[in-house]
Amino acid sequence: MGYTVSGIMITHILFDLDNTLYSARFGLEEATSDRIRAFTSEWLGVSPEEAAVMRGEAIKKYGTTAEWLTAEKGLRDMEAYYRIIHPPGEADSLLPDPGLRPFLESLPCPLAILTNSPPVHARRILDKLGIRDLFPRVFDIKENGFRGKPRPESYRHALDALGAGPGTVLFVDDTPRYVEGYLALEDGAKGVLFDELGLYPDWTHRRIRELGELRTYLFES
Ligand SMILES: [Mg+2]
Repeated sequence: MGYTVSGIMITHILFDLDNTLYSARFGLEEATSDRIRAFTSEWLGVSPEEAAVMRGEAIKKYGTTAEWLTAEKGLRDMEAYYRIIHPPGEADSLLPDPGLRPFLESLPCPLAILTNSPPVHARRILDKLGIRDLFPRVFDIKENGFRGKPRPESYRHALDALGAGPGTVLFVDDTPRYVEGYLALEDGAKGVLFDELGLYPDWTHRRIRELGELRTYLFES
C-alpha cells in the first residue's frame, strides 16, 4: 500500500514530534530548551552564557545535549536528566488542534514518529493532541539508546522496524540538520523540512510551511 511521489511509492510517513505535530508558536520546545540550558549551566558550574557557547559548539558533534553531557561531562543518570527536562506539566500550554486528527487520518499510508525526546514526553504530547492511537510506532530517544537524530542508526532503526527504506518512507521534521541526516542516508531519500515560521529561506531541498501541504506532495505526479 502506498502513494506515488514523483513516480516513487511512499509506504509510510515518519514524523518528528515537537514543533512538527504542533505549532512552534506554543513555545513548548522553547521552554524545554530553557530547562536544558539551565541544567547544563548548573551541571558544568558555569554561567548560562558560557554554557550556551559550549553547548552550541558541542551540539555540532552530538545529536542532543544529553549525548554530549554523557560522552564528555560525566552525566550518567539519563532517566533523572529527562525527569528534569520534561516535568509533568510540560504539555499544559498546548491547545487542542481540531484539524490535526482529521488531517492525519486523511493521509494515505501508515504513520510513525521518530523523536529525540523520551517516551514519557511523547506520550504526554500525543495524549494532549488526542492522536496517540494514530501512531502504532513511536521511536523515541530511549529506544535509540539515547543516541538520536541526526545519527544514521537512529533513522535506520525506525526504517528497519517499518520494513522500508528512506526512498519510500517520507520523513518530516522542523530541524534542518535532522532532515539533512535523513537525506544523507541515500540518494533518493524522501525528507521534507517543515518550516512553519519561514526560518530557513535558503533551504535547498523540499520544504513545506503547513502540514497540509503534505497532501499535495503525496498526490503530485
Ligand atoms: Mg522538532
